[in-house]
Amino acid sequence: AETEDHPRPWLSHYPEGIKWELDADFQPVHEQVLAACASEPLAMALDFLGGTTSFGELARSIISLAGALQKQFGVKKGTRVALMLPNTPFYVISYYAVLRAGGTVVNCNPLYTVHELSHIASNAQADLMITLDLKQMFEKAEALVEAGLVKSVIVCHFPDALPLVKRALFLLAKRRDLAKVGKSRIAGQVTHFADMLARKETPEPVIIDKHKDIAVQQYTGGTTGLPKGAMLTHANIAANMAQIDAWGCGLFYPPSKVVAVLPFFHIFAMTACMNVPLCNGTPVIMLPRFELKALIDIFVRTKANVLLAVPTLLQAIAKSDVKPEQIASLEVAVSGGAPLPNEVRAKFAKVSKALLAEGYGLTEASPVVCCSALRVASKPMSIGLPLPGTDIRFVDIDTGKVQGIGEPGELQVKGPQVMAGYFNDEEATRNAFMDGWLRTGDVGYVDEDGYVFLVDRIKDLIISSGFNVYPRTIEEALMEHELVDEVTVIGVPDTYRGEAPVAFVKLVQGATISEAELKTFIAAKLNKMELPREIIFKEALPKTLIGKLSKKELREEYSQMKGKS
Ligand code: AMP
Repeated sequence: AETEDHPRPWLSHYPEGIKWELDADFQPVHEQVLAACASEPLAMALDFLGGTTSFGELARSIISLAGALQKQFGVKKGTRVALMLPNTPFYVISYYAVLRAGGTVVNCNPLYTVHELSHIASNAQADLMITLDLKQMFEKAEALVEAGLVKSVIVCHFPDALPLVKRALFLLAKRRDLAKVGKSRIAGQVTHFADMLARKETPEPVIIDKHKDIAVQQYTGGTTGLPKGAMLTHANIAANMAQIDAWGCGLFYPPSKVVAVLPFFHIFAMTACMNVPLCNGTPVIMLPRFELKALIDIFVRTKANVLLAVPTLLQAIAKSDVKPEQIASLEVAVSGGAPLPNEVRAKFAKVSKALLAEGYGLTEASPVVCCSALRVASKPMSIGLPLPGTDIRFVDIDTGKVQGIGEPGELQVKGPQVMAGYFNDEEATRNAFMDGWLRTGDVGYVDEDGYVFLVDRIKDLIISSGFNVYPRTIEEALMEHELVDEVTVIGVPDTYRGEAPVAFVKLVQGATISEAELKTFIAAKLNKMELPREIIFKEALPKTLIGKLSKKELREEYSQMKGKS
């Protein structure tokens, strides 16, 4: 069934048992989670380093905190509350409590600098922030309060999240990591999370207009300038959950156990590692940060079967000395957020029999747009089919023509998960859409079976002697060499070609190989325009805070390097 202006080949190739039409009524996520808590109050909801929280306890904490947020801080519809928390039960409770109180969650990466946090806090007008009493976070909150950007801080006592023995050990060995909150310069503006829960308040009912009220205001880099706040309505969030759920075919239901090692403040983990499983009564096993050994221990200890990951994380597992039996419980791993190199896929398959799916999304789409069909064989290198209810098209960037099957263009999205716009930024909102379609800035195409393939980001495209060169093609070719561990390719100015590709390569530990040898290795795999002008070896490649390889720093570094020489 192809309609109107662009082909929709996926409509006739949808996996058996899944409908493309989405018939969900999109209940706000906090209502869904409280309903799940009420149905199985004794079941385990959260595991944090061995300390567990039942669904019943979770609901009681959410309700008490929501009530206290309303009564003590006047949180109501429209109030933005900043969460600067790593994966801990505090994050989960705070997230749902802010929504239950009627407020909007503003996620802050605890590793952001004070400068970045200041921009977010002031742009979002978030007067209230919830964070931990670990020095590295509390001191940032202190700076924001002193700058007048945040008025009050709710502080969670980190050791409270740990099971008894670990708590004692932490207090013995790492007490110095804790901020002296009572003696801090902002002591007057601090309230303790535990005290708020102890008030056992009951929140006033709030009537949510799910298509208008903003559940999450998520800051995202965008291509230019400072991060912008993508406004995700309650319906956006709930729609993407329903879409993932439909795609999962029961994966996110008990007896599954989902590992949350990606941080919840990133939209992918917030939706797929937290909202979807918890609203289905499925436990979430958290890790506050990625550490290979701790992650493997989780599989050994809990026999978790679902892992959501970024490619660098899967690579870390694949190249470690993990024994397949240690992660034998893993049934499904979903990679998202960045391209999954074929090599990583192949290496991962050697240590795990898990089905490895690849998903694609972006903050502005709450986030998932496409995913390879779970439980059905996918096509190599494809990001799969559009999720239920998600319409996509590909548009030629130069001519604005809507492309046919197999023709590359900018991937554009329409669907119930697409954001309402950027907060207080009409111009950016206007630029983000074309005739009502969300522009992703990613180039790809769809094949005759509806499978989507991504070529690259528009902004990363290299135009070399008038030809389009996609860095990803070069990255894939280099990754095929067994001594290459990680690679990032950027375009640099070139007198003859206009632009030329330069590759930055991190070799596997202890390996050596010359630039000439690597160039010979890829020469047969690439066309002349794609051959990198230079291959630069590095000890480590820059990554974003969620673990995606990042080009920005390398562009700066390269231009500085050339500026000096
Ligand atoms: P963010 O909004 O920060 O999550 O970044 C979204 C961007 O990540 C997308 O626009 C893509 O460029 C990239 N991305 C996400 N998933 C994939 C994937 N599976 N393959 C390639 N790029 C991806």
